[in-house]
Parts: sequence; C-alpha cells; structure tokens
Amino acid sequence: MIRTRFAPSPTGLLHLGHAHSALFAWRCAHAAEGAFLLRIEDIDPARCRPEFDAALREDLAWLGLSWPEPVRRQSEHLGTYRGHLDRLVAEGLAYPCFCTRREIADEIARAGHAPHGPDGPLYPGLCRNLPAAERAARIAAGDAHAWRLDVGRAMARTGPLTWHDRAEGTQQARPDLLGDAVLARKDVPTSYHLSVVADDALQEVTLVTRGRDLFHATHLHRLLQALLDLPVPEWHHHGLLVNERGERLAKRDGAAALRALREAGRSPAEVRALAGFPDDSP
Ligand code: GLU
Repeated sequence: MIRTRFAPSPTGLLHLGHAHSALFAWRCAHAAEGAFLLRIEDIDPARCRPEFDAALREDLAWLGLSWPEPVRRQSEHLGTYRGHLDRLVAEGLAYPCFCTRREIADEIARAGHAPHGPDGPLYPGLCRNLPAAERAARIAAGDAHAWRLDVGRAMARTGPLTWHDRAEGTQQARPDLLGDAVLARKDVPTSYHLSVVADDALQEVTLVTRGRDLFHATHLHRLLQALLDLPVPEWHHHGLLVNERGERLAKRDGAAALRALREAGRSPAEVRALAGFPDDSP
C-alpha cells in the first residue's frame, strides 16, 4: 500500500507552495487508496513555534485534507535519532566537528578551490582526521561540536547505490556532492537529514513526495538508509510554485499565505486551484 507524508516545519504560516506539496502527497496516496500522513519537523526550537503547528493543522483541514494516523512530532523523538547517530559513530562513519562557521569560511578561502555542492562550498574536512584522543579530550572538556558523516568512508562501505524518482527515473546516488554533511548540529542533537530518514522508515512511508529543491538531499538519504539498514522508498520530487516575479514562493510572500487567502474570502476549492489542483475534491 502506498504511504505518503507531508512534513512541514512550523516556522511560519503555510503558503500556496506548501498547499501544493500537501495536496500532491495527498493525491498520490488517495489515487492508490493509500494513506497520507502528517509529520511536524520541529527539531529546531529556535525557529519552530507551537502556534504555527496549530495553524498549519487548521489550514490543512480547511483545505480538505485529513490524516487518520497520529501526527508524529520530531521533537518528541530525539532519542531515536540519537540511536542512529550512535551507530554511525560506533562504526567510524561519523566524527565530531568542532569548527566554527568562521574557521570553515577561512579554510575555504585559504584553499582557494573548495568544491561546491548544491548548498554551497563543501566542508573542507578540518576535523575529519583528528586523532581519537584529541576528539575524546575535547568532548570531555565540553567543546561544542557537531557530528558529520564521513561520506568517503560511508560510500566505500556501501558501494554504489541507486534510487528511483517517479519523474526523473533511476538515479545513481551521489552523496559525495553534499560532502561530509552534518548529522547532528551543535545546537540541535540531530539534523534534517538524519531525522527525515529515520521517520520515513518508522512511519513506513513508501513514496516520499517533496519539492525539487530537495532533490539533491535524496542522494544522502539513500546512503543513510543503506548504512542504517532502513527500507528504501520511492521518491517523487515535484515542481515548485513561483510568485509573479518567477521566484520560488517563500514566507515573505504574505499574500500567498493560506490564512490570508481564506480571510480574503477564497474558498478551499479556489485555494486548491491556486495551488495547482483545480478539480473538485482535495
Ligand atoms: N521539513 C521539510 C521542509 O519543510 C520537508 C522535508 C521533506 O519533505 O523531506 O522543507
């Protein structure tokens, strides 16, 4: 059975781009008599607010969506993500990174030719080969640190991997394009990548739908699934809605907020049409 999910972060009000993504996931599930799940990705306490969580559930219900299974809130499951991280650390595939942003930027400037990934320059590897004793001493001394994946070692462990996107076909996994990604931040004991992979497995999601802006993240997610022995779903990365200037919709496009449209008297069916789903039912 197909299981899809919509996984917003409650950092602001939902806009038409979110509605498109939610409706896309809902339709993929319902076209196949499957299940649509809602997950709240609230690992970052500095940016997430309970009032946005409440507002998004209300907006989705107003749009006509429902999610029969309990909503999963990531902030309630930090121990699960920690368990996955501990395994990667124990297997020598993740290492503590004590670098500040400044140190990373300075090293990239010094090297002069840092490889770039889809999200900017890759981590230059300053902490990748620190001696084990130095790592242990700095952790014991309370030095702030993130945890990074050693992507080279990880890929050597799994060998070549592929994944399948419904729109783009079979892809050769290229997690190296993202470099030694952060698995747990200094201020948050996990990361988007680690928690999304853990939860998609735990919630038995079979089809991950999300915007094309996250296409590259999937290379890394496929690798993490292989390392953690998690099931491999199928993916469908959909196109992004744009504003009148042709830019991807963002929180600053206040007029596109579902709340604003609703207050301006638009009906759910009209808003679904604006979000790219003009037929009658959600
Ligand atoms: N929480 C992510 C976001 O709001 C969605 C991630 C995903 O669907 O995998 O962009």
